[in-house]
Amino acid sequence: MTQKATNIHWHAGNLTREERWKLLKARGCTMWFTGLSASGKSTIASALEQVLVQRGVHCYRLDGDNIRHGLNKNLGFSAEDRAENIRRIGEVAKLFADSGCIALTSFISPYRKDRDLARQMHEKDGIAFIEVFVDAPIEVCEQRDPKGLYKKARAGELKGFTGIDDPYEAPEKPELVLKPATMSVEESVKVCLAELSKRGALPTWAD
Ligand code: ADP
Repeated sequence: MTQKATNIHWHAGNLTREERWKLLKARGCTMWFTGLSASGKSTIASALEQVLVQRGVHCYRLDGDNIRHGLNKNLGFSAEDRAENIRRIGEVAKLFADSGCIALTSFISPYRKDRDLARQMHEKDGIAFIEVFVDAPIEVCEQRDPKGLYKKARAGELKGFTGIDDPYEAPEKPELVLKPATMSVEESVKVCLAELSKRGALPTWAD
């Protein structure tokens, strides 16, 4: 995306990222949950957030619906708006991670290109990006349907719904794959914690 403003300069501040993280005893990264609607992204991310915060780890969840109430209020579900939605979330998650926070994002983020852009933003700045594919078959999602969205989409009352009349491009090389049809929420949380531990993202007292 081209930059509109001119005469703007990056101000680095008085601390390096390493100094900040060391002083705060924190290590930021982004865990990016992607998957069909009702696959379990928010449920798993919320449970993980709860465990981490209870252990005293700075962690924050950016959730699809919640972000669309505020920051991304002006965006819908066209391919263009979905791309802008993900671009903004990628930038915000990166800022959270840079501050030393473990940012958990739960967005369908159906397009590979958009997710890859979010990954690149992180990796070019040296911040870990952990893509977590919440891989539940559509039949399971449709049966769970906690918000009744599949029912609406099947009835033709909701257009452009991912998995029904809009595509979902599964990740090719996600760092983690969770299978909510056969894994409990607790098991999924354990797998995420193990990955964070492996990457040294957990402070000693929480590891
Ligand atoms: P998403 O954020 O992907 O749209 P949600 O987390 O909102 O999905 O919804 C998933 C639904 O599936 C919830 O009602 C949750 O309680 C239910 N569910 C049942 N079993 C599991 C499981 N093993 N893992 C995740 N969610 C589960």
